[in-house]
Amino acid sequence: MLELRKPEILPINDHIWLLDDNHEATCYVVAGRERALIIDTSIGLCNIRETAEALTSLPLICVNTHGHGDHIGGNWAFEKAFMNLADLPLAKECMDWPELREGLEQLHVSYPPFEHIEDGRVIDLGGVELEVLYLPGHTPGEIVLLDRQDRILFSGDGILEHLWLQLPESLSVAAQIESMKRLLPLRDSFDIILHGHCRQPAGIELFDTLLSALEDLAKGNTADDIDYEWLGQVSKAHPYQPNDRRIVYKDSIDA
Ligand SMILES: [Zn+2]
Repeated sequence: MLELRKPEILPINDHIWLLDDNHEATCYVVAGRERALIIDTSIGLCNIRETAEALTSLPLICVNTHGHGDHIGGNWAFEKAFMNLADLPLAKECMDWPELREGLEQLHVSYPPFEHIEDGRVIDLGGVELEVLYLPGHTPGEIVLLDRQDRILFSGDGILEHLWLQLPESLSVAAQIESMKRLLPLRDSFDIILHGHCRQPAGIELFDTLLSALEDLAKGNTADDIDYEWLGQVSKAHPYQPNDRRIVYKDSIDA
């Protein structure tokens, strides 16, 4: 029988918690007065619902930032999960990963239906509202969630130190730039970025440094770019600072 593990819990404030699942993926619980939101569920080896229920007794809503297996994996604990259905083909592909399929079979659980979530939708938790914003790039259906009250942007794999745009499903560097520029009018609405693989909050500087590094890459400034190994493959990566960050991209920047 598969042994479930428990994520490490880091309180962000009195109603938001970061759940670090073995440094493999990060999920969040955001509680309002009436409902609580679960943002992502990691790879499926934790019962994220049980963890959330230990933090809040409110009814739970599950939202996926995108369709990758390390974010939708634990959806099995919920009756349904929201997602931008542009990522449905990708999610179906990931659900077929042998590791995920075997895990679910051992747990005797299955995936719930996905329900589409629209760009601009506001999820009202009672006193806390999260606005859904599409950010196609890492995947076609990537979303971010803006909590203006807490001044936090939950950015999934769309805005993070090591951005992966090399995957077959990823869009071009130009598309990622366009997606991030669409957020520029909201840039003053958040100070903190909580992404899908962090162990602690990042500052707004992550947004600024990532966007300028993307623009630098789009201009063709690739002289310092390096080989980057991932899952047995090699792609090009554009390093940027601080702390030696990376944008991993396809062979052609315009791909
Ligand atoms: Zn991802």
